Amino acid sequence: MASPDTDMMTEILGTCREIDVMANSAYGCFADACANDGLKAEWQRLASEEMVHVKIWEMALSASAKGALPDLFDDAPDVLSRLKRVKKNIRGALDDPSDFSDAGAALSLGYQMESFMLDVSFMQVFDFLGFGGDDYERHVRRFIGLLKKYGGSSRQYSHLETLGDTLENLLRQNMRLADESFKDPLTGLLNRRGFARMIRPLAGLARRQATPVGLLICDIDRFKRVNDEHGHDKGDEVLRVVSGILQGEIRASDVLCRHGGEEFLIFSLLDDGDSLETACSRVNCAVREKSEDKCGLRITISLGGAVGMLGVSDADLPAPMLAIADEKLIEAKSEGRDCWRISQMEGIKHVKRPGYRADFETPCSHGQL
Ligand code: GH3
Ligand code: MG
Ligand code: MG
Repeated sequence: MASPDTDMMTEILGTCREIDVMANSAYGCFADACANDGLKAEWQRLASEEMVHVKIWEMALSASAKGALPDLFDDAPDVLSRLKRVKKNIRGALDDPSDFSDAGAALSLGYQMESFMLDVSFMQVFDFLGFGGDDYERHVRRFIGLLKKYGGSSRQYSHLETLGDTLENLLRQNMRLADESFKDPLTGLLNRRGFARMIRPLAGLARRQATPVGLLICDIDRFKRVNDEHGHDKGDEVLRVVSGILQGEIRASDVLCRHGGEEFLIFSLLDDGDSLETACSRVNCAVREKSEDKCGLRITISLGGAVGMLGVSDADLPAPMLAIADEKLIEAKSEGRDCWRISQMEGIKHVKRPGYRADFETPCSHGQL
């Protein structure tokens, strides 16, 4: 059963798809009605690019169904109602194709079809998908070029030039906002806000399927010394290197963020009670073994984790889980660093692995730095 958030996301992405199918027809009609060969070719090109966008929305829909897209829209009902308005306007205009030989009318309708997308959340959709953003940017820039060319060349269409400037400013601002609002600029990882958004649909999935979840806090050991002894720039480099190592070790379905300073969070859906421990061992070893090659310093991390079941009322990650993981991190630090401690919250059976000193403790301590 889908959650209301997923339903809304599906409806938004589905409406974007419909708008771009209509945009493909609209640009095709503009091309058919156009007497100017240069402009005709531009309309044809925009029409074929719309079909690429349709495919992108289809992939976004499928990513969303798998819980791979975060809950990106601050006010999803408002976004949806704006999209429906755009759809209605385009449909209305397509039902009255007599206007399309007039470049001004065609460009004005084109403006509506292109500007609906300039909501920062859509740029974030592309960001999370890892594709689509460049196609859209190129397409919108091509359209801006048309607005400016035709607006600049005729008094009758001078308002189009202003629309072109508006669209260009919006595009630039939204690209910057999309970059800054969910990402940490130093490491390129999600920031706390991005993390909270990203795990929301996954937490919903875990609740519905009664799957346990794990949360890890990874903290670089004695990081202050790196800054003090090698300088802040080296410290920044170490943060980037550790981020890269963590990113390379987590599973595609895990969510990683820079929680702040030299701390990182990893959220995982767990198939069994053992996986978080495996993840701890993997990332702890990877940082110890790979850091020197990558930045010339041997870096270690300590980890604190919590494994638990989300309650039916938990819309987000429950705060106690973070608090427990933090307590465990403090324990790992006080017991020698370069190790991990995990606490099992109520409700989950842990499968004990042979050879361990105790449940959820690191199999070997690597001593103090
Ligand atoms: P522990 O093993 O107990 O975690 O010790 P620590 O030195 O890692 O922890 P502490 O909290 O004492 O120091 C963290 C340091 O991280 C202090 C702060 O200046 C540094 N730091 C936080 N953010 C950044 C950053 O963006 N760049 C750099 N270079 N340093 C940062
Ligand atoms: Mg710290
Ligand atoms: Mg530290």
